[in-house]
Amino acid sequence: MGTLFVSIASHMGEETLMPDESLAQIDQLIQKRPMYKEALSVYRDLMIFLNEIEPEIKYVMKGEVVHEIKVKEGFPLFSREDLPLDLKAASSLFPRLIDHLSSKKRKDRQALEKALNKVRADSNWIKRVIKAFLSRDETTIVSMAKEVNLESMVLKFLIHMSLRPSLNTLKEAVKEKIQKDSWNYGYCPLCGSSPDMAYLGEQGKRSLHCELCGYEWYYPRLKCPFCENSKAKELGYFVSNEEEGFRVDFCKKCNRYIKTLDMRIIEQPAPLELENLITLHLDMLAHEQGFKTPHS
Ligand SMILES: [Zn+2]
Ligand SMILES: [Zn+2]
Repeated sequence: MGTLFVSIASHMGEETLMPDESLAQIDQLIQKRPMYKEALSVYRDLMIFLNEIEPEIKYVMKGEVVHEIKVKEGFPLFSREDLPLDLKAASSLFPRLIDHLSSKKRKDRQALEKALNKVRADSNWIKRVIKAFLSRDETTIVSMAKEVNLESMVLKFLIHMSLRPSLNTLKEAVKEKIQKDSWNYGYCPLCGSSPDMAYLGEQGKRSLHCELCGYEWYYPRLKCPFCENSKAKELGYFVSNEEEGFRVDFCKKCNRYIKTLDMRIIEQPAPLELENLITLHLDMLAHEQGFKTPHS
């Protein structure tokens, strides 16, 4: 099925279905940050691919689930394990993404092919890896990635991409259930995940961005999203020398950090999930100083 689709897609041409400005923006970023050329090209390529197949797959949202949601104080609408996602759609999208990527010149091409064969031979494999991803079972993910010689980061990225259309459908369906202004917790009101990025918007108001579903919500600036510490002398940030408007906020109590973009300074910021991919140098700086990501 994957092969068939690729041949159809190549007839369709790649340029027409993705908004031109998004692609132009990615191209600009590649110029600006050549060290992320490979990551950016993969992202660009997968965005085009996802856009092409979007109309073809119907994502099933269980309507009754959305109606039954009871909003409780301090509780996210769902937990990661119980998200009403279309796992069937994600399972069928996953091999197609791999198939598409392995047709490109990539260092890990053989590993991708191995993963593809694995998925084709064992239909439970993908279900297990999606489950491990949603329940943050790092050990299982690492060992499953090893089975096919893929880097676990690449495997996680591909699973996330496969879930993405379904996560977007869910986000659209439930966003009115969330009272954005009254949610002031450090975890996502929709899925309970941690934030992976933050940004400062108008009047310096801080928003956090969910690592899984991409939902954004307000959070006080002088408070750690991971341990709720609000002692000013234990909170701080350092800035990037390379680019203005990028900084890393850290907390000395729990030793965690979050990358922050100042949207008042940065011209034409990319979508946050993309900014997250291309600011790995900031993660490295934070790690050098002894700060950790939320789940390490
Ligand atoms: Zn979320
Ligand atoms: Zn903290």
